[in-house]
Amino acid sequence: MNRLANFCAGPATMPTEVLQKAQAELLDWRGKGTSVMEISHRSADYIEIATKAEQDLRTLMGISDDYAVLFLQGGASLQFSAIPFNLLNGGTADYLNTGTWSQKAYKEAKRYETLGLGSINLVAQGGGKDVPTPDTWELTDGASYFHYCPNETIHGVQIFDTPKVNAPIVADMSSCILSEPINVSDFGLIYAGAQKNIGPAGLTLVIVRKDLMERASAWCPSILNYKNQADSDSMLNTPSTFAWYLSGLVFEWLLANGGVEGIAKTNRAKAELLYQVIDNSSFYDNAVNPRHRSIMNVPFTLADSELDKVFLEKSKNAGLLNLKGHRVVGGMRASIYNAVTYEQVQALADFMKEFEKTHA
Ligand SMILES: *Cc1c(COP(=O)(O)O)cnc(C)c1O
Repeated sequence: MNRLANFCAGPATMPTEVLQKAQAELLDWRGKGTSVMEISHRSADYIEIATKAEQDLRTLMGISDDYAVLFLQGGASLQFSAIPFNLLNGGTADYLNTGTWSQKAYKEAKRYETLGLGSINLVAQGGGKDVPTPDTWELTDGASYFHYCPNETIHGVQIFDTPKVNAPIVADMSSCILSEPINVSDFGLIYAGAQKNIGPAGLTLVIVRKDLMERASAWCPSILNYKNQADSDSMLNTPSTFAWYLSGLVFEWLLANGGVEGIAKTNRAKAELLYQVIDNSSFYDNAVNPRHRSIMNVPFTLADSELDKVFLEKSKNAGLLNLKGHRVVGGMRASIYNAVTYEQVQALADFMKEFEKTHA
């Protein structure tokens, strides 16, 4: 077996144990003579898988019965549209922009103004290196909801404290869900594409407070309607059955490995390793305000961008994959999600120090 350290931002690496389990039962799931991906989503066997995955997620995140947990498709990007359709309710929604993803969510929501569905208000505009301080936010009294992205995957900007606002908080947690304990009851809605910190692409999680599911506009397509989806256990149409099953295996893996509290300690330590190398060097740089440095996505630049190609080539040869930064930011980016091990990050930190010695 030759599984290398994979720092891809998404679709991201999965825990090896999970892939091995899936491999072992791929052809013949639990002696049923068929693969999980070949059975009806309405069969008792599949419903058992689906229900168990939801229960395990509820345990991991401490999600109460006041919330519905939906296993949907369309990625986080479809939620950019689904959210205003379901929650705007003729009012004004507040959007905090701190990087590429919150900006995209804002732009998509803005389109709904033309339908006369309500208003979209920009609370503050960040530049991708810092977060505008709350005293500069222009909040709407009685806003339908407040939208933000706790972890900007591309810029590596993270907001660790849940914003203190009066409206229901809607959070795009695509790249930080399950990385650290959170208080779900602080949120009105949490959504996340699975392919960063959960499982394979094709599955999108939505955790929504039940009372908020009653507000959908008449225009809302039924497949995007949270209430419809909750009433049919996310099976209004055929769900991403295999991705749902694999995510369930990831939840089991997390529960067996100390849960979110356990993985959070490792995640902090992993990020610390890389930021230390960066800060102890004049060769590497990370321009994000240290208070908002992401523990999941660590972007960094080299003193001379001419060396980027060499860095990528040599790191690849050393078994450290997918370190190229997003084209918006340039340089490098190490995505160190739950499934990336401490040892793999240590290997990257060692490689960076060695590379600096030979090229600075
Ligand atoms: C990757 C990502 C998205 C886009 O997810 P899709 O599932 O591809 O639509 C949105 N928001 C954040 C924070 C992301 O990291």
